[in-house]
Amino acid sequence: MPEGHTLHALARDLDAAYRGTQPTATSPQGRFAAGAALLSGRTFLQATSWGKHLFVEFDGDAWLHVHLGLIGKFSIDEREYAAQVPVVGQVRLRLETDEHVADLRGPNLCAVITPEQVEAVTNRLGPDPLRPEPDPDLAWRRISRSGKSIAELLMDQSVLAGVGNVYRCEVLFRKRVDPFRPGRELRRSTWDAIWLDLVDLLPLGVATGRIVTLEEQVEQVRAKLASGAADRLTERHSYVYKREGEPCLVCGSRIRTRVVGGRNLFWCGRCQRRR
Ligand SMILES: [Zn+2]
Repeated sequence: MPEGHTLHALARDLDAAYRGTQPTATSPQGRFAAGAALLSGRTFLQATSWGKHLFVEFDGDAWLHVHLGLIGKFSIDEREYAAQVPVVGQVRLRLETDEHVADLRGPNLCAVITPEQVEAVTNRLGPDPLRPEPDPDLAWRRISRSGKSIAELLMDQSVLAGVGNVYRCEVLFRKRVDPFRPGRELRRSTWDAIWLDLVDLLPLGVATGRIVTLEEQVEQVRAKLASGAADRLTERHSYVYKREGEPCLVCGSRIRTRVVGGRNLFWCGRCQRRR
């Protein structure tokens, strides 16, 4: 499932292609014909994301709300290349201008909603570290009152929005947090460290299109971004994610896995022992 950095990059790319234009909206598949007719010809004002939700504001208080779910994909192509892109799956929504064609396929949710409904959706979500001025205290209030494990809480979108399984596993390892520690037994300083690390790491994911968590790669990407040459990393590495049975990069003991919060948690039993 796409994590928040993917949605943030999608909002950025949609914005770059469509902001200020009046795209023609259609539903080639037919399932979103009424919604597309409502949006077609309106001015595209701004695309934003909050966690795994995408919102596009059109003039006249019409908002497009999309959740990609597990298999959804929203591709944006320049018109001259769009015909060369292989077509996979039915197109729920197409946005077209003279320059661009964007196709939404297989979303979990695609709807036109009001500003009040946008607020109702975002009120249910925890802070997203990628949004301007997110509120980590809101997440802390929910974590510090909960008997659930921190590993489970990090996956709860009403606690923290946008963090998925990969960042969950990796940030808990990076900060050496016992994933099974209940939220109410977590120290405030530990939560602050987790939050600041996510604030630091997620923009690197937006910039590179990859989840970068290994410290040496974090340094490489930062250096590349600072020099203006944001090369895409060719290999993906992680400290613990999908490394079950392999030796921990820090202490050498075997990485373990267990389903927590509906997804496989990966952790090092030695580095992430409760202290
Ligand atoms: Zn270890």
